[in-house]
Amino acid sequence: MKITCFFKKKIIHLNFTKKIIIMYTLITLPYSNEDLSPVISSQTLSFHHGKHLQTYVNNLNNLLKDSGFENSTLEETVKNSTGAIFNNAGQILNHNLYFLQFKKVASDNKPTGKILELINRDFGTFESFKDEFSKKSAGLFGSGWVWLSKNSNGKLEISQEQNAQNPITKGNIPLLTIDVWEHAYYLDYQNRRAEYIEKFWSIINWDEINNRLG
Ligand code: MN
Repeated sequence: MKITCFFKKKIIHLNFTKKIIIMYTLITLPYSNEDLSPVISSQTLSFHHGKHLQTYVNNLNNLLKDSGFENSTLEETVKNSTGAIFNNAGQILNHNLYFLQFKKVASDNKPTGKILELINRDFGTFESFKDEFSKKSAGLFGSGWVWLSKNSNGKLEISQEQNAQNPITKGNIPLLTIDVWEHAYYLDYQNRRAEYIEKFWSIINWDEINNRLG
């Protein structure tokens, strides 16, 4: 199976036993905290990226010692782990893909290039894809993520995933995602998840989604 590596960057430290430990670091956002407003406020970004994601990074680094995953990539760790390691590694991978897929707000924001071709082939039109993805995002019960991914036959799929799950565990390539954990939208939208989903489309960086197709 082809292994897709989105996040290879790690810092290597030596501890007092001279054993190499690979530590994960918080990703740097390719935009400022104000750039996604009013879809995602700077306050939400500062908590979501600076606090929630940082906690998952700290937790995973604390769990890595003697885990057998010290030298694995993030993707390998998500595919092969269970329990607390899976939960924290999964949340890092999911959030990295989520935060890195955004750009400044554009009112008429549409996919272009290869991803548009595949969406038209597998869903008919962008509007029908958007409708199905939005309905699954609104309808996901509890905490989780909705994903657009490409399966091993090259076909696009939309899936609802609970908690820290990512379609990479089924051998798919994750392309686009929405975080529907309440911490992703509650400061800005309170209980109005549907409004967060509707506005989400105006900040997608479709060039980045095309890059993920490989
Ligand atoms: Mn989140």
